[in-house]
Amino acid sequence: MIEQPSSSTKTLNNKIEILSINDKDPNDAEGVQITPNERMVVSEVIQIWKHDPATESLGIAKLHVLVKAAQPNWSLSEKRLKTLLKKYGLLANQPKFCYVNEITSKPTPGLELPPKIKLQTAKSKGKGLYASQFIAKGELIWEEKPFIFVPPLDHVYLMKIGKSCAYCGKLLQSRLFDSQSFLNGLDCKYCSQLWCSKGCKKSDSLHIILNHNEKLSKSKNKLKLDSSKWQKYKEFCLENRWSAAFAVGLIRIHELSDETGIVAKQFDAFAKIGQDIRYKASDSSAGAFDNSNGGDGALFVKEQQELLWHKGHELFNEIFDVEGENPDTISQHKISYEDYLLYIGTYNINNIESLYLIQSHLNHNCVKNVDVRVADNTRKLSDGIKVYAARNIKAGEELVTSYVNPTHNVNQRKRELRVNWGFNCSCNRCKEEEKETHRLQSNIGSDPKKASPNPNEKKADELTVNGDKPLKSSRKNSMRKSSDLSSRNDIKKMLEGAKNDGEFELEEADDSLTVRRKSVRFDEKVVAVANE
Ligand SMILES: [Zn+2]
Ligand SMILES: [Zn+2]
Ligand SMILES: [Zn+2]
Repeated sequence: MIEQPSSSTKTLNNKIEILSINDKDPNDAEGVQITPNERMVVSEVIQIWKHDPATESLGIAKLHVLVKAAQPNWSLSEKRLKTLLKKYGLLANQPKFCYVNEITSKPTPGLELPPKIKLQTAKSKGKGLYASQFIAKGELIWEEKPFIFVPPLDHVYLMKIGKSCAYCGKLLQSRLFDSQSFLNGLDCKYCSQLWCSKGCKKSDSLHIILNHNEKLSKSKNKLKLDSSKWQKYKEFCLENRWSAAFAVGLIRIHELSDETGIVAKQFDAFAKIGQDIRYKASDSSAGAFDNSNGGDGALFVKEQQELLWHKGHELFNEIFDVEGENPDTISQHKISYEDYLLYIGTYNINNIESLYLIQSHLNHNCVKNVDVRVADNTRKLSDGIKVYAARNIKAGEELVTSYVNPTHNVNQRKRELRVNWGFNCSCNRCKEEEKETHRLQSNIGSDPKKASPNPNEKKADELTVNGDKPLKSSRKNSMRKSSDLSSRNDIKKMLEGAKNDGEFELEEADDSLTVRRKSVRFDEKVVAVANE
């Protein structure tokens, strides 16, 4: 059950206060031993692992030494450390919570595949895209416009004041643009918003519905909503840095304003999963490796998470409370709390910022064979994606992308995949690297720096893709919502690295083809996850 805001806030404050012990000047506590609480311990271990991923391979005894070195004032036994790691699902070889079997998906109605590509469903893998003929390295396999375009949440305010395109979010900095825009009719006659191009103005089919609903003629077919409530919902999303909630609002309104009904059917066909189920995977590792909260697991409190979901749901449904509208119609527009979480989870596992019908069918492999490129200097985010062959692809081979940063080591990748997409990766690269890790561990053991191989991209690229276990379900993560309780620091870091168009660069060692990719948090998406 959800607690009242006041009591939840209190609970959180208590936790934060306890945690603040960490930040005290060590001199204050000199000689005084303290007993750390659970989250302090887990948080410390995670910090150690993040600082040096090689330490993830260490046994409890060595890890205990590192924790004691970092926190000399802690009274913490090796046994308690082990108990806590076990409780939070952080012990190596411990069964981990996966939700791949709970992800459902359907054939997408009206899906038009590019030449050279076929859709296949394998018993063990679920849906996936396959080459129907040879595709040469570097070849453009397809381009795709977003199914639902979601502008960068960060630009929402700039859009409102006409500093950023009202549709694609592109920054409009030139003052000249203001005067030109009037000439070109790129301004809205009801508000201060501007579009960067005729194409954007035309694509922005929801502008009037969302912002000036009261101006719509009373014709019965038009969706009625309260523009000021939509504004309020957007502000709530922005305050909480919750992109998924913003996206879900747009998706639902697209569905309702589409008289053909195809938008709703196509969204319904995406790999689906409730956000509450995804959250379990994150919670089982103390939220530590959830991309959406910056990995600051210790502050990731379930009560607060649920409070946020409920608040989002409530504000979302208020959008449809329009005076004079038929009450039955209003209740058809609203969605249940369970469905709201389903929309959020589904968006999260499938998006790469926006949602794409074809691209969402790409399964994951830690060695990709296609590059998904988003906007670059010559194209806007709303122009969509281009998908290229990252190497020669044989007829019959599955097309695969990497949902996570390929430079991360095997432990990190597997954890990110499990938490964000619900499956245990067992691709060839993961198998090889796990073997290598074990080998080094038994040979070297004593030197933590050498305990985990730094993945060598070149070698990885030579591994065959055949035999990987695909996932087929949707993703994303991304929990991109940097949402749920993101760590503010993490967001700050992210924003510092942000480009004008709201993208984030990913350090990618190996790959000259991919000009720019999303950070892990905003990485490509996926669809369908099948169990082996
Ligand atoms: Zn634009
Ligand atoms: Zn307007
Ligand atoms: Zn893998």
